[in-house]
Amino acid sequence: MKNKKITRKISQGMYVLTTKNGGCIVDAVSQISAGDHPLISVSVMKNNYTNQLLKENDKFALSVLGKDVNAEIITTFGMNSMRDINKFEKVETEEVEGVKVINDSLGYMVCEKIDSIENETHTLFIGKLIEADLFEDKEAMNYGYYQENKNDLIKVTTEKGKTAWICTICGYIYYGEELPDDFKCPKCGVDKNLFEKKESGV
Ligand code: FE
Repeated sequence: MKNKKITRKISQGMYVLTTKNGGCIVDAVSQISAGDHPLISVSVMKNNYTNQLLKENDKFALSVLGKDVNAEIITTFGMNSMRDINKFEKVETEEVEGVKVINDSLGYMVCEKIDSIENETHTLFIGKLIEADLFEDKEAMNYGYYQENKNDLIKVTTEKGKTAWICTICGYIYYGEELPDDFKCPKCGVDKNLFEKKESGV
């Protein structure tokens, strides 16, 4: 492959995907048909807990993150698992059609799941839009912007003397001076060479 960076030019946004009992940050969302109730697809990593929840529930919501979103929303939904914390206790939400949506967003889309396609690493869930609202008509955060600015957007605060390692794929944070020898990301499974080191206090 000559330069895979061209894929960064695919326009993708930043969303909080929620369903009953959980949610996570996603970027691969697209509208795949038009009309009053368009179809919307979202791709979710298979070993993400939200993927499991989506298989058990028939509705999901996408809250669209604005460019000036509070970074806590990204760290809460993108860098933690509901297996460890209750994400809904950390951010303000409201319930629409039985699914929680994020108040600090530009708006939401609630979909009824109608299909799903499995591939090697991800599941593509397809839903029909049943409810939607626009809270604020401002610029959305796109994935390319997030990738370029994530070091400023998300300041990892470590305890004094502690070093953090961040998974560049899923955002999982490991605290410690060195990563253990055969370490793999517990959230997305990638090797330790895909972790970036952050010195303490950065
Ligand atoms: Fe990871």
